[in-house]
Amino acid sequence: MTQGNGNHNGNGNRNGNGNGGSIITIIYYKNKNLINNGSSYLTSSTTPLDILLSPKYATKEEIDIAIREFIQIVGDDHVSCLEGDLEHHSDSFYNAHKALKTQKPRAIVYPSCTQEVSAVMKICHKYHIPVVAFGGGTSIEGHYVNTRNGISLDLSRMDRILEFNKNDLDVVCDAGVGWQDLNEFLSPHNLMIGVDPGPGAQLGGMTSCNCSGTNAFQFGTMKENVIGLEVVLADGTIITTRQRPRKTSAGYNLTGLFIGSEGTLGIITKVKLKVHVKPENEGIIEIQFESIEDATNSVKNLIQKNIKLNAIELLNNKMMQSLNLSKQLAHIYEEKATLFLKISGASPLITKETIKQIKFVITDNNATYFKVATNDLEKQEIWSARKLALWSAIQYGKSVLGNDAQSISTDVAVPISDLPEIIKLTEHDIEQTDVVGVIVGHVGDGNFHSCLSFNAENEKKAWEIADKCVERAVIQFQGTCSGEHGIGYGKRKYLELELGSQTIDLMRRIKMALDPLRILNPDKILKIDPADIGEH
Ligand SMILES: Cc1cc2nc3c(=O)[nH]c(=O)nc-3n(C[C@H](O)[C@H](O)[C@H](O)COP(=O)(O)OP(=O)(O)OC[C@H]3O[C@@H](n4cnc5c(N)ncnc54)[C@H](O)[C@@H]3O)c2cc1C
Repeated sequence: MTQGNGNHNGNGNRNGNGNGGSIITIIYYKNKNLINNGSSYLTSSTTPLDILLSPKYATKEEIDIAIREFIQIVGDDHVSCLEGDLEHHSDSFYNAHKALKTQKPRAIVYPSCTQEVSAVMKICHKYHIPVVAFGGGTSIEGHYVNTRNGISLDLSRMDRILEFNKNDLDVVCDAGVGWQDLNEFLSPHNLMIGVDPGPGAQLGGMTSCNCSGTNAFQFGTMKENVIGLEVVLADGTIITTRQRPRKTSAGYNLTGLFIGSEGTLGIITKVKLKVHVKPENEGIIEIQFESIEDATNSVKNLIQKNIKLNAIELLNNKMMQSLNLSKQLAHIYEEKATLFLKISGASPLITKETIKQIKFVITDNNATYFKVATNDLEKQEIWSARKLALWSAIQYGKSVLGNDAQSISTDVAVPISDLPEIIKLTEHDIEQTDVVGVIVGHVGDGNFHSCLSFNAENEKKAWEIADKCVERAVIQFQGTCSGEHGIGYGKRKYLELELGSQTIDLMRRIKMALDPLRILNPDKILKIDPADIGEH
């Protein structure tokens, strides 16, 4: 238990004595500020940042004691303090918001079941140890950077598919199950899951980011696919948000609360997930255009005409160039604005009819090339080109600007009718600078990424392009700063721009209600410490 500091109490409100809420409130709020504008923060509905005291976390010595206790729970082999492991759990090639050298966990703990997660959380709660959950480590907004040098809780040992309810089209899985492994399991049953994020991502991390991917246009994001969750709360309490009904009006939507919460509200240990019958007679189409406007207008028209598509992916000419340069593809593409579409139908006749409708729309929009992949190899080649986009965009930046080049990626989503305008403006902004930028997106959902690579000289310009893109999306077009990647550490300022400070203050109130000690993934999504001067 943390000693000798009047600002915090190692027992928190674990005793459930009914007074916990108000004790915590008094301890963690600046007493002198409790009354503001005639209303007390004890009775108000939101928690502005400036009424909080800075959180107090365990000392290094206390963490060392806790590590011995973790070993009692998960075993010696499942706690690591090896430098390589600490680094792997701090940062990655894809992470756009690099961890500082000092931002590393002190230990990695690998629990094997919910009870172990709960026991570990109780220890962390007792000593006020920051806990950053870790899934596949594929998130890209600095989500799992250890800003407070606590522990990383790696769920990868929890990798069991616990229930396969084929007749109900759902599964119940441990949080550490990888989506590709799950698809491999489902494939012989002609089933699949609805989302396809970065390779290696796991269900817990995917739920925490509300991820999606190329198939979301047809099947929705994690929000539409998760039926219920098992979650371990900050004090070790285990809860279930929902059983397995397809619909419910019963009480608060706690499942929704944890989806997209990025490990800041609880540790997800089990995920109940919808599965889908694989589309029949699936075809993949490649279409090219002379201009990006023609491509994006086609997208708008295809959707407005309600043509049944399973996925619509846009890659601009620079993105196609970077794919060609990657030398990972079976053939070289023309470097023009390109759409990759997925279609399907109950019979080949229906897909044929869909193709006819698509041709009609794209001809109107001056398409220069149209190809339907005819066999599995061709289909796979086209889709793997799309899946290579982020990697090849980053490599492209490095090849032009040198190996030290870094990359950031915008992730805005706007109403579909505004898509052509915002993409045109963003492409124009990139062209005005020496920043290396490509555009790629799941445009059926109005979501696109401008992947911007920069070096020390043009870093400021890259951020200006990103800022402008987000400002347009959220102010001019009523969109969002993040369609699928989440906020992490890197997009906090954009979230405030999008929603306003009072909405963020409400989110902070929810955070403080569930995690009053602020030990769960501190500093992500929103600021929790008035001393935090991070600019993002
Ligand atoms: C090449 C590439 C392509 C990508 N493409 C897409 C795409 O098309 N669509 C898309 O949406 N995303 C995409 N992503 C982003 C990424 O794959 C997703 O954000 C994914 O959801 C992250 O899952 P993860 O298991 O890797 O989570 P991690 O990176 O391990 O963690 C992400 C966040 O969730 C928290 N977390 C992890 N596990 C848990 C848990 N059990 N309980 C509570 N919190 C937890 C972490 O603390 C962290 O804040 C891509 C990434 C890469 C590298």
